[in-house]
Amino acid sequence: MVFNIYGAKIKVVREDLTSEKALGLYDPEAKQISICIHCPPDKLRMVLIHELLHAIWDRLGVFNMPGHNEQVEEILVSNIANILSECGLFAEEEKCKKKSSTSRKS
Ligand SMILES: [Zn+2]
Repeated sequence: MVFNIYGAKIKVVREDLTSEKALGLYDPEAKQISICIHCPPDKLRMVLIHELLHAIWDRLGVFNMPGHNEQVEEILVSNIANILSECGLFAEEEKCKKKSSTSRKS
């Protein structure tokens, strides 16, 4: 899977991140998102959204901005990922079908 983010091809790979103690990583040098092969299926979307947000931050040049703070970035990325997930943008297809059939009735 490859995402084109502001002109850069961001590759998504699955690999064992046990030694990194992470479910996902974004490597700004390699322009690559790694998702751990041990990531539980129900967390895959959230981890991918989270790492995509880091990639967007990178492509926007936020990493190189004066005063950039990794802890602040982590808080923002985590919260935006939660909001996007909770509002159903990345719901599973079955959930989307249920919502659309419900909305047609009303
Ligand atoms: Zn992160």
